Amino acid sequence: MNFGLTSEQLAIRDHVKTLLDDVCNMEYVARCDEKAKPPVEAFQALAKHGWLGLIAPEEYGGANGSATDLAVLLEETGNHFEELGLWLFRTYTFGCYAILKNGTEAQKQFFVPKTISGEFSYAFALTEPDSGSDAASLRTRADPDGDHYIINGRKQFISGFDISDYALVALRTNHLVKKQLGISTFLVDTKLPGIEVRRIPTLGQHSIGTTEVTFTNVRVPATALLGELDKGWSICEDTLRYERLCLSAARIGAARNAFDFALDYAKNRIQFGKPISSFQVIQHKFADMKVLLDTAQTMLHRYAWLMDNGQAEKADTAVLKYLVGESYKSISDTCLQILGGYGYCMEYPMQRFFRDSRLATIGGGTSEIQKTIIASTLGI
Ligand SMILES: Cc1cc2nc3c(=O)[nH]c(=O)nc-3n(C[C@H](O)[C@H](O)[C@H](O)COP(=O)(O)OP(=O)(O)OC[C@H]3O[C@@H](n4cnc5c(N)ncnc54)[C@H](O)[C@@H]3O)c2cc1C
Repeated sequence: MNFGLTSEQLAIRDHVKTLLDDVCNMEYVARCDEKAKPPVEAFQALAKHGWLGLIAPEEYGGANGSATDLAVLLEETGNHFEELGLWLFRTYTFGCYAILKNGTEAQKQFFVPKTISGEFSYAFALTEPDSGSDAASLRTRADPDGDHYIINGRKQFISGFDISDYALVALRTNHLVKKQLGISTFLVDTKLPGIEVRRIPTLGQHSIGTTEVTFTNVRVPATALLGELDKGWSICEDTLRYERLCLSAARIGAARNAFDFALDYAKNRIQFGKPISSFQVIQHKFADMKVLLDTAQTMLHRYAWLMDNGQAEKADTAVLKYLVGESYKSISDTCLQILGGYGYCMEYPMQRFFRDSRLATIGGGTSEIQKTIIASTLGI
């Protein structure tokens, strides 16, 4: 196992950094957060330079990149703006990975090129008002109607549904079997008649935001089915594994941004006639955070390597998700403390890391559920 980045991966990181330094600076990020405006310009700039095609095969216009390449790209993106990284990850996971792995040739030809060009963006709709951690108990249904399906029900906390073109929606198609065996996944056009979307005000993640989506007799063509009928649960599980790689990369980048900001601040903030960075108490906070960051980053690259080599197990994903989520939450909290009163001010960026990072131990599977998954592999 090689811990270094290849020259191609260093080039990915450097190019994305230069591009985002230009189109996604701190003022732009603060505006997106304050005005609840998605970072469309930054997203489109990445698309224009071909980065949305990183993991797609060359025959669809992509670069055939690896999970490690993607981790490098999303870490750098998250370092500029976590929510841009999360928007991108949905595009990679649901618009490329899930479709390339499970789609028909017609679906691949239709979706993948438009995903790479930045024409289509995606949301993922699994959670419902009564099914969160127990996601497989979902009840929103798709019933056959000739060469169509009719969708009825409600999805909860669907990030970016209102700004996405398509959503991968997990739906119940069979009520007579064990809950995991009666779920199918559909690629649903988010603008279809019968879909009602409400934005849910949240503590953080204001730029992309999250929504409640109600489906009332929504007709989708049978060709919207992704993968086999009633076999959607394994697609959800597989895409969630990929999602956790991407989420973790973007969040490690964001945690490093918070760390660097606080470090710079501590070197320049004078109290008792000295920079606060000269106090051992503050130095130890940075030492603790560096341990968390380096551990999380090493685990990210280990996990990406395991994925690239077809060796990633369920527990590996849960370890990564848990470690990164808790580390990001802890780092943003400590960094806010280092900024003192300025950390608490809306005029400084630290409050955004604090608010955004709070989701890291909840969304995409809570820390408690990750620990349950890890423990379940230990024979206890
Ligand atoms: C801002 C935001 C964005 C989101 N984006 C999306 C999205 O895009 N798509 C999507 O499908 N979902 C999304 N989610 C949903 C998210 O994945 C769920 O909130 C999460 O899985 C937890 O489900 P829940 O909120 O229903 O909590 P619950 O499942 O009700 O859990 C409540 C508490 O009980 C604990 N708990 C539950 N079961 C157990 C157990 N067996 N053992 C121990 N503890 C347990 C949990 O850890 C948690 O602390 C989003 C959520 C938020 C807040």
